[in-house]
Amino acid sequence: MKPIKKNNEQIYRAIIRECSVCRDEYELIYHPIHSDQRYCGQECHMKVRQAHKGMRDHAILTVLKERGSLTSLQISNILSGCKLRTSNRTIGNILRLWKARGIVTAERRSFKKPYTYKYISELFPGELVLKYAKA
Ligand SMILES: [Zn+2]
Repeated sequence: MKPIKKNNEQIYRAIIRECSVCRDEYELIYHPIHSDQRYCGQECHMKVRQAHKGMRDHAILTVLKERGSLTSLQISNILSGCKLRTSNRTIGNILRLWKARGIVTAERRSFKKPYTYKYISELFPGELVLKYAKA
């Protein structure tokens, strides 16, 4: 997240986000490490970390929710810049499971084309990861 530049001055505009786990609102911190955070605080972050494959599924679902329809290759490319590097094929397998749960849709124009996934759930990625971790 970069500050907005206006008349050569850096202006920091408060950005309010809703926590992916508990939906509490929090102000985004301008910080190289924390600017991509999706949680209100450590407690919610830890809940996702402690879920089986929680961080991986959370990252994939968050990309899909925030960027719209994507193929597994596009998601893989977006995630390649972060620690959660996951192959195109693995993402396809994970999203097949989330499709079976009714969280995403998968469509393709023909047999030879890759699936395009779309996030259709009303729930947030953090809520989903925790819900299905307990099941
Ligand atoms: Zn929270």
